[in-house]
Amino acid sequence: MGIAFWKGLLGDENAAALKRAKPIVSLAQVFEEEMRALSLAGLKDMTAVLRAELKSGKTLDEIAPRAYALVREASTRTLGQRHFDVQLIGGMILHNGDIAEMRTGEGKTLVATLPAYLNALEGSGVHIVTVNDYLSRRDAVWMGQIYFALGLSVGVINGDASYLYDPSHATDDTERDLLGAFKVMHDFLRPCTRTAAYAADITYGTNNEFGFDYLRDNIEYSPHTLRQRGYHYAIVDEIDSILIDEARTPLIISAPVADAERLYDRFAVIARKLIPGEDYSVDEKHKQIELSDLGIEKAQRELGIENMYTEKGIKYVHHLETAVRAQALFHRDKDYVVSAGGGSASVGRNNEVVIVDEFTGRLQPGRRWSEGLHQAIEAKEGVTVQQESRTFASITFQNYFRLYEKLAGMTGTAITSSEEFYKVYGLNTVVVPTNKPSQRKDHEDLIFQTEAGKYKAVARKVRELNQKGQPILVGTASVEKNELLSAHFKQEGIPHEMLNAKNHEREGEIIAQAGRYGAVTIATNMAGRGVDIKLGGNPSSDEEYEKVKLLGGLYVLATERHEARRIDNQLRGRSARQGDPGETEFFVSLEDSLMRIFASDIIKRVMGTFKIPEDEPIYNSMITKSLEKAQTRIEELNFDMRKHVLAYDDVLNIQRQSIYSRRRALLVGGHEAVDTELERVGASDEKFKSVVMEKKTELGITFYEQVQKFLLQTIDFLWVDHLEAMEYLRSSVNLRAYGQRDPLVEYKREGLTMFQQMESSYAMQVENILPNLRGADAVQPRRPEGGRGPEAILSGVIHSAVRSITMGASSPSHKKFERNDKVVITDGKEKREMKFKKAEPLLASGKWRIAQDQ
Ligand code: ADP
Ligand code: MG
Repeated sequence: MGIAFWKGLLGDENAAALKRAKPIVSLAQVFEEEMRALSLAGLKDMTAVLRAELKSGKTLDEIAPRAYALVREASTRTLGQRHFDVQLIGGMILHNGDIAEMRTGEGKTLVATLPAYLNALEGSGVHIVTVNDYLSRRDAVWMGQIYFALGLSVGVINGDASYLYDPSHATDDTERDLLGAFKVMHDFLRPCTRTAAYAADITYGTNNEFGFDYLRDNIEYSPHTLRQRGYHYAIVDEIDSILIDEARTPLIISAPVADAERLYDRFAVIARKLIPGEDYSVDEKHKQIELSDLGIEKAQRELGIENMYTEKGIKYVHHLETAVRAQALFHRDKDYVVSAGGGSASVGRNNEVVIVDEFTGRLQPGRRWSEGLHQAIEAKEGVTVQQESRTFASITFQNYFRLYEKLAGMTGTAITSSEEFYKVYGLNTVVVPTNKPSQRKDHEDLIFQTEAGKYKAVARKVRELNQKGQPILVGTASVEKNELLSAHFKQEGIPHEMLNAKNHEREGEIIAQAGRYGAVTIATNMAGRGVDIKLGGNPSSDEEYEKVKLLGGLYVLATERHEARRIDNQLRGRSARQGDPGETEFFVSLEDSLMRIFASDIIKRVMGTFKIPEDEPIYNSMITKSLEKAQTRIEELNFDMRKHVLAYDDVLNIQRQSIYSRRRALLVGGHEAVDTELERVGASDEKFKSVVMEKKTELGITFYEQVQKFLLQTIDFLWVDHLEAMEYLRSSVNLRAYGQRDPLVEYKREGLTMFQQMESSYAMQVENILPNLRGADAVQPRRPEGGRGPEAILSGVIHSAVRSITMGASSPSHKKFERNDKVVITDGKEKREMKFKKAEPLLASGKWRIAQDQ
């Protein structure tokens, strides 16, 4: 379904949504006098009163008018800013769990204080999400005094630290009110633990950090180091940037796994010595190989071991098979090429293996085969083997933010993406009118034939504006273009500032001055986002402000149309805040990438037929239209891509939730949770029950601690394995699409089977290993904060799993086989036939099981 069918909350519906929010203005008014009469201590007492009313059964909606009047009063007193009426309306929209589209400069930071305060009264925490760490600190410090005056605590989650807002700061406070829009007074932030920052009433932080903390909490081994305390209500600032632009790539916690034994190299040597047709058979069609007994024996001889399965386990078997596949099924210059790596390739091994797409024949630099195959091919070709990394946890932003009981957002630009917000997050977008009527002049696009011509014209225009002193913000679509333009300006002798979105804090301070008389600032779209550009600079004087106002305000000169209309609008929105004058103009060329890739053939044909100089604009409505069409198409394509990512993550999400909730119960549930889990696993197995009883006596007080740890480790080990298998499945179902099957349906179906298999492996492992649990050896080292990470834990589990093999644990399901019987086993991905004696250790590892159909 195209965007054309999506009506969203346009026109009437928008008006209706506004009408529903509007009464707050007069309702809050009623309490204004009462709030004004309160003493400073009285403000805090009022918070207690409201909390008590909630306890006694009043709803948030019922207390909203007084809460909003109270926040307004606290803000007026501390910050010197009284919430505008439209800000109260915006605040209601956020409280309702919708998106408030409010233009840049409308004061969204202040708007958020209203619903944040109101919802924090419930005591379950409120998260305010910002696009970078700097803005989270800025907003916490800037707004902190309002919350503090009302008796609420404020936390900040940053990548490298976390803080609590600390009002005991001594120095004079006027600077914060004056410069708080861009300057972070760090003295107001006291470092604290993650847990403490989340325990605050209101917590500011970035989407990445909130998401990562969720994942971190779910690979945690001690309940005392858990960070988050729930997902009550989130207000996402610049919601389009976070939930749309960043939603294509999921969050992943992974760690490199070192190949300490140089297994890839060793097995590559072995694979070379094996003879096809004798040591293994090759199935070219299914890209599979099967090792014969002869081949396995040969490999064992090479490795100097007796029985690879029992001595080394799955890992070696996997390596052997992968090495043989790399040797027999993947051919140089057909499936891959070995190319000179980037940069200064010196000695031999600096090359890299690049995949050749089997359908298009194109090279796929950067892409890698999974499951160690790429490494095996690197080893085969004598190219440096790159480190593997394993995924321990992952989630998309879509699914992270769906965890919240209530989600809301604000941005200057949401309406062009309202369909996506609604379909993916169930969020309605409501456009809130500006506080003062907008005075912005948006000029028509200027179109140039060549990029060089465009830049000449840009420089000319900037010089002309600069000569009269009008401040100019030049917007570019990439860091690369930014630098190109800056070099060009230097050559032309135009002094300017350049911002690449690299150091948010410093760039925030620079962008805050972009409205000064005579300022020229070149910035990428994300640079300085979230920081307001006031006319005359910041701080400004009336005189400076008037001078720039007379010149026409801030001139936004964009040098390219972006991938989405939304981002163009974001750039335009930098100009003409709060009823100020301002102008915007786009300079585009037929050589811009948007044009080159998406322009219709007609445009391509007319290109070059204009008989005018390259730095003279062409006025052609057809071109402007086709640019807009191109943007809509890219928007749709990107939306589809995000839907695709999400559709797959949704399958995993159900599994993730089930594993994580079981894990969480075990982690925080004490003895009872351990008992429940053991009962669940061995409910129908009397023998297992008696083993549990024996162990309780044997291990005494350490029983619960040990078993809890062991269960957690087993869950993690299998889950991480499962994640890897799901990744593998995902790439393989996409190939199968050529067999006319819907890959997503296949992924769902097989993903479910694999999950069920993981569940039974889990039960089996628990039953097999528990009897062998004893003394200290079963308890793996605790993971120190910032220590070696999950791999330490997981290698512990791998050890216990392997140990169980040598201890001869066997599961009841394969007792009916004789040692030399042929059996078919499966790990959920593939099936193998082998003698039972060979299969036994694989089965005992828990990863393989007897195939159902025997
Ligand atoms: P937005 O995020 O909507 O672009 P900001 O939150 O950055 O806007 O605020 C823009 C500027 O407007 C800030 O300098 C802020 O201090 C000012 N501002 C916001 N609300 C008010 C108000 N009610 N009264 C006075 N100034 C305000
Ligand atoms: Mg903002």
